[in-house]
This record gives sequence, structure tokens and C-alpha cells, in this order.
Amino acid sequence: MSEHDPACIFCKIAEGKIPSRKVYEDDEILAFHDINPWAPVHFLMVPKAHVPSLAQAGPEHAALLGRMMTLAPKLALQEGCRPYPKGGYRVVINTGDDGGQEVHHLHIHVFGGPRPWAKG
Ligand code: 5GP
Ligand code: ZN
Repeated sequence: MSEHDPACIFCKIAEGKIPSRKVYEDDEILAFHDINPWAPVHFLMVPKAHVPSLAQAGPEHAALLGRMMTLAPKLALQEGCRPYPKGGYRVVINTGDDGGQEVHHLHIHVFGGPRPWAKG
């Protein structure tokens, strides 16, 4: 698949150069626990290829993003989120500075588990 950005921390995680607590992996997608969780369940899903943010997503990413979005509920349950509708989870893609994005490699946050949460 396509390139990694050598300066990008999530590329390094996707390449296994920085360790992570893995939730899921396939050829195109890696999911891993957030290092600073603010809900009982908090993991990130990333494309292995470097895409800076959702703002750069184009038609060539539609299938991948669709797969990530439909995988999120399965991984959420696997990681301990309670089922819809009493349970559930929050799925977030921070995009750009105004969107609160700190790591510029497209990632989907999945938050869940019993409340209260530290944030959100
Ligand atoms: P953003 O604000 O960009 O949407 O979220 C970036 C997230 O990445 C933050 O929740 C932060 O805790 C997480 N994060 C940053 N560096 C690392 C890391 O090296 N490993 C892991 N597992 N998570 C990280
Ligand atoms: Zn990257």
C-alpha cells in the first residue's frame, strides 16, 4: 500500500516502529488503544497509509472509510462497549485545528463504556 510519513507518529505505530496496544489489524487498517483514554473504552482506528485528515479524503478513500465506519461498532463491542441502544459509543473524527486535531494522520476515535467519562 501507499506511503508513510517518516515524521508521523501514527505511521510509526502502523509500521510497528512504535508499540501500541492493538485492537485490530488488517492490510489497510490498524486499531489501537489511545495512550491517554478519557472514557473506559477509548481506541483509535487509522488507515495504515498516511492521510493527514478527513479533509484530504477523496473518492479513492470511500471504500476504506466505509470499512472503518462499519468495523467500529464491532470493535466497540469487542472492547467492552455495551450494546445499542442502552449502551453505545461515540465515534469522532477531529479535523484540523478548529476540530481539535492534534495528530495529523486521519484517525477515528471510538469512546464508550459506562459513564461518567473524564471528558465528552
Ligand atoms: P486528536 O486530538 O488528534 O484527534 O487525537 C490524537 C489522539 O492520539 C489523542 O487522544 C492522544 O492521546 C493519542 N495519541 C497521541 N500519541 C499517541 C501514541 O503515541 N500512542 C497512542 N496509543 N495514542 C496516542
Ligand atoms: Zn501518518
